[in-house]
Amino acid sequence: MTSRDIEQGAAWIKEARDIVVFTGAGVSAESGIATFRDEDGLWAKFSPSQFGTWQGLLDVAISEPHRIAEYLTTLLDPIAAARPNPAHRAIAEIERHRRVTVITQNVDGLHGDAGSSRILEIHGSLLDIVGPMREPIRRLHRSDLARIVTLLREARGESSMHRPMGADPSTGFEISPRDLFSILAPFMTLGTGVFCRPSIVLFGEAMAEPAWSQAVHAAENADLMIVVGTSGMVYPAAFLPSQARAAGARLLAVNKESIDADLMLHGSAAEIVPALVSTAFG
Ligand code: NAD
Repeated sequence: MTSRDIEQGAAWIKEARDIVVFTGAGVSAESGIATFRDEDGLWAKFSPSQFGTWQGLLDVAISEPHRIAEYLTTLLDPIAAARPNPAHRAIAEIERHRRVTVITQNVDGLHGDAGSSRILEIHGSLLDIVGPMREPIRRLHRSDLARIVTLLREARGESSMHRPMGADPSTGFEISPRDLFSILAPFMTLGTGVFCRPSIVLFGEAMAEPAWSQAVHAAENADLMIVVGTSGMVYPAAFLPSQARAAGARLLAVNKESIDADLMLHGSAAEIVPALVSTAFG
């Protein structure tokens, strides 16, 4: 990538009237949240067939609750501590100059924290607890996620002192399904008898609505789509760039690896996106 590429991308941003920024896990990597497919990512330690579906999670919660506790600790700890990085902030900055819709596959809430106002979370959010009809129940704070992690770690600390029978042999970590649920219940309002859950979309589930329908509409009406930090391997989200292009939009991509785009800028989102925005409007 050359400074000429940045100038070309910045010129497209300046020329555009309706911009969609479509983001994936890579935009949050520099906020300390690993992508799931990284070598040290979530799917390297926890199989998606077990931990990526509600049925799988429920089965593991009953048969190996310590694995759920480890999974939740690994998933929630970085998100609890995360803050927007320069890429999230530069994306929010574009709104001061152009009409922008942020379509994100991420569940970490960082675009909102950075100040973007029109955000479509097509895979839901870990911070939004919804009821059986996906109706909003409550919004968690990052401090709630941090509290869950602390409680799970405390449970681990106590149990590893006692090394009970049936504990995970590698860590000595034992927790009963009941203890697991009693840690989570205050945050998920399970105690009310209503089954509540984070609004995240797991494998095989329908996309979050109305965000998904609005995202398709926004993609078809954009004249520029900036695709940041997504591998394009998760469907149907991965259809959005080709839908935007078919409707006449240019595709500008920022990624560490090559993906299909009209202009591909290789490298770190936290470096390239601010460079684009300051070249366009600085
Ligand atoms: P992915 O893991 O399939 O792909 C991430 C992409 O980001 C890769 O192409 C990688 O080259 C690129 N990348 C990594 N670091 C980067 C950086 N610093 N700068 C620029 N690019 C970088 O992610 P995906 O396409 O978003 O699909 C994974 C699914 O998992 C999504 O549905 C998403 O919801 C979920 N997920 C969410 C989070 C989060 O909320 N932060 C994190 C991991 C996964």
